[in-house]
Amino acid sequence: MNAHTVVSDLEGRISGIVQGQRDCFRTKITLPVEFRLEQLRKLEGLLRAHEEDLYKAIYNDFGKSKHQTQLTELFPLFEELELAIKHLKHWAKPRKVATNLLNQPGKSYIVAEPLGTTLVIGAWNFPYNLSLVPVVGSMMAGNTTVLKPSELAGETSRIMAKIINENFDRGYLHVIEGAIPETTALLKQRWDKIFFTGSPQVGRIVNQAAAPHLTDVTLELGGKNPAIIAEDASVDVSVKRLIWAKFINSGQLCLTPDYVLVHKSIKDKVLKRMVFEIEKHDYSVERGNFTRIINERNFDRVARLIDPDKVFYGGGSNRDERVIQPTIVHNVSLDDPIMQDEIFGPVIAVLDYETLDEAFDIVRQMEKPLAGYLFSHDRETKERFLAEIPFGSGAINDAVMQTTNANLPFGGVGNSGMGRYHGEYSFECFSHMKPVLEKPYDFEPDLKYYGHTDRQMKWIKMLG
Ligand code: NAD
Repeated sequence: MNAHTVVSDLEGRISGIVQGQRDCFRTKITLPVEFRLEQLRKLEGLLRAHEEDLYKAIYNDFGKSKHQTQLTELFPLFEELELAIKHLKHWAKPRKVATNLLNQPGKSYIVAEPLGTTLVIGAWNFPYNLSLVPVVGSMMAGNTTVLKPSELAGETSRIMAKIINENFDRGYLHVIEGAIPETTALLKQRWDKIFFTGSPQVGRIVNQAAAPHLTDVTLELGGKNPAIIAEDASVDVSVKRLIWAKFINSGQLCLTPDYVLVHKSIKDKVLKRMVFEIEKHDYSVERGNFTRIINERNFDRVARLIDPDKVFYGGGSNRDERVIQPTIVHNVSLDDPIMQDEIFGPVIAVLDYETLDEAFDIVRQMEKPLAGYLFSHDRETKERFLAEIPFGSGAINDAVMQTTNANLPFGGVGNSGMGRYHGEYSFECFSHMKPVLEKPYDFEPDLKYYGHTDRQMKWIKMLG
C-alpha cells in the first residue's frame, strides 16, 4: 500500500463519518431539547463512571495529579454539564426583543438554530476541559459532533475515544484520534462549524481550510499574556495569586501570565516575594502540584528560552523526567528570545518600568494577548488599563481565575483568537441566533408603500 492509498483510505473513512453525521442531523433527532438533555446526562454519567480511568490517563501523559485534574479539568467540565442541564430549556427558548414603531403591530424574537455538523479540535494542555467543554456546547445547541483531541496527550485522547465511541451513535457524536494527517483530512471536509483550540500558527491553517466553505470558525488561541504590577499594588497578595496562576500545570496554560511588568520601585520586593511563594509551594510532580513538560520538543523549546545570565531563581531541569524547575528570569529586554514567543512553560519573565505609559506601550506593541492582568488599587490606573490595553479576557488583582466564572465569556481577540464560549455563550457559539419579525394579518398601515405624500413622509420620519 503506498502513501497515496493510505491518505485516500483515511479521507474515505473520515468522509463516511461526516456523511453519517449529516444524515443523522437531517433526521431532526437532535432538535428536541429533551433529546439533547438526555445525551448530556448520558455523557455526564459516563465521565463520572470513568473518573479513575481519566485520572490515570492524564497522569500517564504528563504527570498531572488527581487533585490538579479535579480542580482544572473535571470540576469545570462537570460544572459546564450541570449548567447546561439546568438551563438548556431556558436558553433554547425564543428570546423576545422589543419591536420598533415602524413594525407595529408585530413581535420580534431570536430563535436559536443548531448549525449542523461540527468539528471540535482540542489542545493537549487541559485535554478533557478543552476538548469536552466545547463538545458540551455543540451538544446543547443540537448539533452532531466530531471531536479530534490532541495526539500529544495520547492516553487522554484514547480514553475519551473509548468512552464516547463505545457509547454514542457515531452519527451523533464521535471521536477521531490522530495527528496532522488526520486533522488535515478532517479539515478537507465541509463543516457547519469548526471550533479549534491551539496555537495561532495552526489557527491560521484551520481558518484557511474553513474559508472555501465559508464555515463558521471559533479560534481559541494563545499569546504572551502580560501582568502589570503597579507601584501601589499590595505586593504579597499580588505575588501569591500571580505565582499560583503562573505555575499551575507547569505554566502550560494559555491564560498564564507570561511576562510581568513591575514598577522599578518595588521590583526587588516583588522578586523576593516570588521566591518565597515558589518555595512555599515546593513544586514537584511527586507532590502533585506540578506537571511534566508534555514532550521533549517542548522541553527543549522552553529550556532554550532561559538565558543563564538572567536567571534570578531556578533554571534547573531534567530532560529524562521532562521537568523544568520553576524559574524567574529578570532584567529581561524586549529583544530577548523569551520575549519573541509564548513561553508556555514554568518560566516567568520579569521586566521593570518607570512610568505606566512605558508599561502600556510595551504591551500595546505586542500582538493582542489572550489575557491581561493588572495589580493595583488605583482607580485611574484600572480605568486606563481597561481602556488602553486590548486582551481576550482579564483580571484586576488576580490572574487566570476569570475563566472559572461561566457567566463571563472566554475567548481571544486578534492573534489570540475569535469567538467566545462557556455557559450560555457556548450555547450561542454553536447556534445560529436567528432573528425573526412576526406580523399579525389584521392591520397593515400604508406607509412603506410607494406614492408618499408630504404628510406620509413626515410620519415616516417620526417613526424611523
Ligand atoms: P497546536 O496548535 O500545535 O495543536 C492543536 C491541535 O491542532 C492539535 O489537535 C493538533 O493535532 C492539531 N494540529 C497541529 N498541527 C497541525 C497542522 N499542521 N495541521 C492541522 N492540525 C494541526 O497547539 P498545542 O501545542 O496543542 O497547544 C499549545 C497552544 O495552544 C498555545 O499557543 C496555547 O496558548 C494555545 N492554547 C489556547 C487555549 C485557549 O483556550 N485559548 C487553550 C490551550 C492552549
